[in-house]
Formats: sequence, structure tokens, C-alpha cells
Amino acid sequence: MTGSIEFSYEALPGRVVFNIGAARRQLAGEVDRLDISHLLLISTAAEAELAQELAAPLGDRVCAHFTGVRPHVPNEVAEEARSVAQESGAQALLSVGGGSTTGTAKAVALSNGLPIVAVPTTYAGSEMTPVWGLTELGEKVTGTDTRVLPRTVVYDPALTFSLPVGLSTASGLNALAHCVEAFWAPGRNPITSLLAGEGIRAVTQGLPAVVIDGLDPEARSQLLYGAYLSGASFAVAGSGLHHKICHVLGGTFDLPHAETHAVVLPYVLAFNEPAIGDAAEPMARAFGCSRPLAGLMALEQQLDMPRSLSDLGMPEDGLERAAALVGAKLPFDNPRPVKVSDILLLLERAWAGEDPST
Ligand code: NAD
Repeated sequence: MTGSIEFSYEALPGRVVFNIGAARRQLAGEVDRLDISHLLLISTAAEAELAQELAAPLGDRVCAHFTGVRPHVPNEVAEEARSVAQESGAQALLSVGGGSTTGTAKAVALSNGLPIVAVPTTYAGSEMTPVWGLTELGEKVTGTDTRVLPRTVVYDPALTFSLPVGLSTASGLNALAHCVEAFWAPGRNPITSLLAGEGIRAVTQGLPAVVIDGLDPEARSQLLYGAYLSGASFAVAGSGLHHKICHVLGGTFDLPHAETHAVVLPYVLAFNEPAIGDAAEPMARAFGCSRPLAGLMALEQQLDMPRSLSDLGMPEDGLERAAALVGAKLPFDNPRPVKVSDILLLLERAWAGEDPST
């Protein structure tokens, strides 16, 4: 960095173990470190078998298994998981799965403070953040509480071999969105920018290689490493224009989480790029391109992915309402001033899948 340097930074605690095979070889040792005898295992029904296999070395330390995870953590699911935790006498939560599973563990920890050991199986990055989310009557409420930040995270790229190409792409771009927004979000600092830049580099390198060969351990490792960095940078930098838009589209219009991030990101980057100043150079370098937007578009051109909000089922007559809902959160810290009309135009362009660079 050059010039005068000024920032505040509240670093978050947590232990991270990252290597191929870690979930099968090191999970029991990580639980030993926390000295816990009663764990509630949490997974989706689809990942129940995997979760049980990974938890097998823990033997009867697993006191119950909750498999009722649903997307966006509906309140009733959170209540059910909290009851199971209480009735089983759990002292900790072991989540095995994507962001919805981690989110369910967070919802339990939010009410009883139990520590979480997280074993992520997607690239959502939630396991690195103190952010929780709950859905009630179709509205998603989020908040920040350090009690929901996992105590230990075991990253094992081998667990992502089974993620289909479409999910890998959408989830990898969700991670990329955390990194890009970390360059301008309100809590940004030079450290989060370093993490985010390395995250962009890792996702940009890993994602196209994963699409070619989903069983390539190096590609899966790069992408999961990028996801870790994305969560770590987003956790401190916080949420900006991009996440606020995706939050409304997912929460109110029920659009799929990761795919919505993938579609919206180039439009927000196109809107902000002229105003990001010094951040442009490291971001472009991380993409391996002369400009950040050109780098993002070059990456997306290699990927088979939805290109518009209409592809994702967004109703055209909902765009004005969506813009108004995002606008209700104004003013917020953004590299350039944002008006509701800017948000509407951005959404209209993303809905139609127009070229973001024009
Ligand atoms: P998800 O957890 O809903 O998983 C998507 C699908 O992938 C599910 O059907 C799941 O069964 C399947 N799956 C998961 N791992 C798999 C694997 N290894 N192989 C095959 N299939 C697998 O989706 P997600 O994108 O991981 O998470 C989205 C949720 O996470 C949203 O609710 C979002 O709000 C939340 N999130 C929260 C934060 C945060 O900081 N709080 C950050 C990012 C995302």
C-alpha cells in the first residue's frame, strides 16, 4: 500500500483445518480438542448418509441427528432443531452440508450458544461468518452474532467431488460475489481486500477447471480455498449493494440463492466499477485481466449458467417492488451514490440478460 494507511479491523476467532481427506481423518480429533461428549449432527436428508459416515468415528458422542434442514432456514425448522438439541442434551452442533445446513446450526446456536463444528460441502462461505438468517412468512431476516460463528471449520475438498457442475458453478460464483463486494462493503479494510483478492484468484483459477473435471482434486481445492477466503472477507467487510439486492430477490421472490448471485454480480460490478478507485487495480490483477468487469465476464463466458433473472423465474412485474424494497435500505455505503431508479434499471437489465458491459 502507498500513502497514509488508516483502518479499524475486528478480527474474528475460529480454527480452520483444510486438506483433502480432513473430514474422514481429522474430524474426531477436532472434536476432542473442544472436549465435547454430546453432539447434535445436522444435515439435509440428502446428505444424511454422508454425515453419518463422517460422524461414525465419534461413536456415541453423537447424541442425535437432525435431518430436517430446508433452504433459507424457515423459523419452524429452526424451532424443531432447537427442540432436538435441548431434548438430546447436546453440548455442541456438528453441521455437515451447504449454507442451508450451516444456517440451521447457526439458528440453534443463536438461541442456546452451543458451539458449532462445521464441515461445509458447498462454496457458500457461511461457515466463516457470524451472520445468521431465518425466514418467517416469506420474509428473510438476517443478523450478526458472534455466537453463531463456528468454533472449528473442517474444509475437505473431497466432499465437493459430488457437487454437480451446475451447483458448483452457481456456488462458486456466490463465493466470488462475497469477494468482489468485500472490496467496497462498509467494513472493508486492507486485510479483507487481501483475502478477497486471493479469493478471486482462487475461484477464477479453480472454477473453470472444476467444470472440466469435477474430480480434479487441485481444482476442487482451489475453489474451496477461494470459498473459505470469500467467507472470511465477507464476514468482516459485510454486505453492500450486491448482497442487499440478492437478499430481496431470494427472500421475497424465492429466487435460488447461489444462481441469483451469479446473475446479478456483473450488473452490480458494472454499476460500481467506475467509482471503485484504488480497488480496481488489485481486483483486476486477481481476475488476471486489465479491468475487474472484463475479468468477471471472461470467467462467466467459460461457464454454462443462467444469464438473466427471467431465466431464474423472476416475474417482470415484480422488478419495481424489488427495487423499492432494496431502496428502503438506502442510503448505504456504496462507491457511488445509488437511487431507487438506478436499482430498477440494474434489475431491468439483469432481468433481460443484457450485456452488463454496455
Ligand atoms: P444449500 O445448502 O441449500 O445446498 C444446495 C443443494 O446442494 C442442496 O440440495 C444440497 O442437498 C446439495 N448439496 C450440498 N452439498 C452437496 C455435495 N457436496 N454434493 C452434492 N449435493 C450437495 O445451498 P448453499 O448455496 O450452499 O447455501 C445457500 C444458503 O446459505 C442460503 O440460505 C444463504 O442465505 C446462506 N448463506 C449464508 C451466508 C452467511 O454468511 N450467513 C453466506 C452464504 C450463504
